[in-house]
Amino acid sequence: MSNKKRGKLVLYSGSSGVGKGTLLGELMKKDESIRLSVSNTTRKPREGEIDGVHYNFLTRKQFVDLIDKDGYLEYAEYCGNYYGTPKQQVEDMLSDGYNVFLEIEVQGGLQIMDKYPDVLSIFILPPSMESLERRLRRRGTETEDVIFERLSEAKREMSFKNRYKYNVVNDDIDTAVNEILDILHKEA
Ligand code: 5GP
Repeated sequence: MSNKKRGKLVLYSGSSGVGKGTLLGELMKKDESIRLSVSNTTRKPREGEIDGVHYNFLTRKQFVDLIDKDGYLEYAEYCGNYYGTPKQQVEDMLSDGYNVFLEIEVQGGLQIMDKYPDVLSIFILPPSMESLERRLRRRGTETEDVIFERLSEAKREMSFKNRYKYNVVNDDIDTAVNEILDILHKEA
């Protein structure tokens, strides 16, 4: 039996374009105990995204097969695609003592809160809706329709922010990173 302390499960949500990925990259550079759970998705890869690193890119059939095998901690449909957290890898990382971040949208987040009431939940907010729209456009990877859809989804998602124990505003990256690290060290 391992005598390592079990890691903390961290639910990490926030609207598309809020900079969650960038923050997480900085967090992982500063704290080696942090691991990101790699999700499965049926969305097509964006330019530069690597299968197995950013996501495991699956067909709808492959995704649904794993649902049937009870292989997900949670899953949700978001803007027409499935996204889900594979159970096994998260369990393995937690028992190895890592603090595992689930970077997922709120429908999946609510499922996680139900199943794991002591999950550490953090919601990342943009400084304003205008700044969120600017960031989504700057990314330049989405069509106008998709940007519109993601913005309305962002507003809907932000209405759930009070279900999360901590809200962190991503105005300045370093400030937000330090705030998240303080929360993690206090709670883990
Ligand atoms: P994107 O297409 O921008 O990569 O992700 C869209 C949304 O899906 C983001 O809010 C992202 O956090 C969320 N997401 C990514 N992986 C998962 C997952 O495994 N489960 C759920 N429920 N949402 C996810």
